[in-house]
Amino acid sequence: MTGRPETLWPLFGELKTLDGVGPKIAATFAQMRIEKPRDLLFTLPHSGVDRRKRESIKDVIAPATVTVEVTVGQHHAPASRGRPYRVTVEDAQTSFQLVFFHARDDYVRKLLPTGQRRLVSGKVELFDGVAQIVHPDHVLPVDEAGDIPPFEPVYPLTAGISQKLMWKATRAAVAMAPLLDDWIDPALKAREGWPDWHAALEAAHAPEGSVDLAPTDPARQRLAYDELMAHQMTLALARATLRRGKGRASPGTGFLQARVLAALPYKSTGAQTRAVAEIAADMAAPQRMNRLLQGDVGSGKTLVALMALLAAVESGGQGVMMAPTEILARQHFEGLRPLAEHAGVVLELLTGRDKGAERRAKLGALASGDIQILVGTHAVFQKDVHFHDLRLAVIDEQHRFGVSQRMELGSKGQLADVLVMTATPIPRSLSLAQYGDMDVSVLDEKPPGRTAVTTALVSTAKIDAVVDRLRAAVTEGRQCYWVCPLVEESEISDMTAATERFKRLRAVLGEDVVGLVHGQMPPAEKDAAMARFVAGDTKVLVATTVIEVGVNVPNASIMVIERAEKFGLAQLHQLRGRVGRGAAQSTCLLMYQNPLSESGKRRLEILRETEDGFRISEEDLAMRGAGDVIGTAQSGLPRFQIADLERQAGLMELAQTDARKLLNDDPALETPRGQAARVLLWLMEQDKAIRLISVG
Ligand code: ADP
Ligand code: MG
Repeated sequence: MTGRPETLWPLFGELKTLDGVGPKIAATFAQMRIEKPRDLLFTLPHSGVDRRKRESIKDVIAPATVTVEVTVGQHHAPASRGRPYRVTVEDAQTSFQLVFFHARDDYVRKLLPTGQRRLVSGKVELFDGVAQIVHPDHVLPVDEAGDIPPFEPVYPLTAGISQKLMWKATRAAVAMAPLLDDWIDPALKAREGWPDWHAALEAAHAPEGSVDLAPTDPARQRLAYDELMAHQMTLALARATLRRGKGRASPGTGFLQARVLAALPYKSTGAQTRAVAEIAADMAAPQRMNRLLQGDVGSGKTLVALMALLAAVESGGQGVMMAPTEILARQHFEGLRPLAEHAGVVLELLTGRDKGAERRAKLGALASGDIQILVGTHAVFQKDVHFHDLRLAVIDEQHRFGVSQRMELGSKGQLADVLVMTATPIPRSLSLAQYGDMDVSVLDEKPPGRTAVTTALVSTAKIDAVVDRLRAAVTEGRQCYWVCPLVEESEISDMTAATERFKRLRAVLGEDVVGLVHGQMPPAEKDAAMARFVAGDTKVLVATTVIEVGVNVPNASIMVIERAEKFGLAQLHQLRGRVGRGAAQSTCLLMYQNPLSESGKRRLEILRETEDGFRISEEDLAMRGAGDVIGTAQSGLPRFQIADLERQAGLMELAQTDARKLLNDDPALETPRGQAARVLLWLMEQDKAIRLISVG
């Protein structure tokens, strides 16, 4: 594909090309990530001020912003330093004062010559019962009244950029924006009553009232949609590229699956059966599978993964499952091996700890196909690991994986189907943003027999009472996790270190009762500590968030989280998901340090109210905004400038459907609408996507 379309060049030029913007101001704009006229287009006002002119301030309920015409009266220069300069003015019905602090006398005199008419606009306040405007926003000769828009947009600013400057600069940028052919499906556009792109820009930058600033405003919706559409085009292109690439048809036979299912002491849930069927259909097809399995903690994703891996084996090939941590890989291995053996399938473990002869033997067995299912850490994807016939790669708990990382994994040149599993329930709009390139299966049903977890909030001041309760619970044979935020006493010195807590709990509860596991421990020690806890030798496991994902010890029924206010809601939900896995009534104690902020308290209360991961994630989104919920940087979730994923949630879904359909009908983007969509991709700086078109 050729370069950026010529019509867009001015928008991608230097900011200095705009009237009134010199190098210094351009540098200040750059601090706001505004580097070219294009960036100004998409910096929209977040609020507005009503500056319609009124007769008088007389009936205004202060404080309120008003615009009135006045006759300038007497000047009262300050009697002493530090006192304000006051000017009495009179509107049609009453008189009031304009007040200036630290103003030069001659400046005020020139601004407000006694006896003349002026238009003033600013916030009226009462001071000792007298109405006044301190530092009016505008003071203009009456014939320049047109300079104040009746409804003045208020933009986000940074030090050195004033509203006035922003107003001028955005207007200049909008004037520079070309007329573009539309990339939106005409039927959709008509149905939603959306304006053309250029008209939308003009309207969004010139709101006429607060209705025009709402997320429901058609101009704003349209611009938000453009942003989401560009993102979904990128994902759809990634998806199409992957699907176009050859895959393997792995139809399976169901033979091994049936054997394993028969050996289980329970029946699959309806959701598990459905997910297995969706995966089987993908695997049987000749295209490459790129599917996400989304399910809350404890929804039984592992069994679904095993069924998929067995389908690969049934088809005469191999499967691999990668877990994010050593602990988890080991646990999967230990849980799955007996089932695999039962079906006569060879399942092995490979982690970074395999060295020397043993590793070589495993690699040999993999290359010859003697190992049919491999479980491990990222070590399974190292260069020297060769499979005989890899048909399926399962990636567990990869909510830390972004779109671009998945693109990389997909481009490893292998034809294997890919199944990604995540336990982070995220709101649908975010899920579409993050995983829009994938097909999704959801486990929305938990296996029966789970007990609800009772959640309580406890101040750290009551730690002694917590430890007493713990001692009683341990005597009853119950097991407990105790989670600490940091491993070592560090820069955040008030945070309790796991090692410190470990020592203290040991002193109180007994040497043999308490174990410790954290990320910095030598691997063998970590395993040993985990194994002792799983076996029930230790009753209390002091840990950092290494136990966050996947760990399954059904006998553990108490979860204590220290400094819970330091964690994200999703993380707390994951941690809590470690208990409530057995028959025993389970408890989660969220310990917080006072003073707890209002929002901090609200966050913890949400956890007390519900165990529904999706509800928790929706609340989290409402409270924190999209980027924070998943962590933009790690997740690969783009930063949307205009789109509001919470309040414009429906748009993402529309954009995905639209983008996929457009690419389906016009894979090379050659039709007029396809061409327009290319311009959109350039406009939205979707470089990755543009490269994918040129490949196609
Ligand atoms: P997650 O989705 O969090 O990875 P797991 O796969 O670890 O969940 O399953 C959690 C627990 O539920 C495991 O002990 C597993 O054996 C059990 N389990 C899975 N499916 C079922 C089912 N259909 N009925 C009963 N228990 C199940
Ligand atoms: Mg799991």
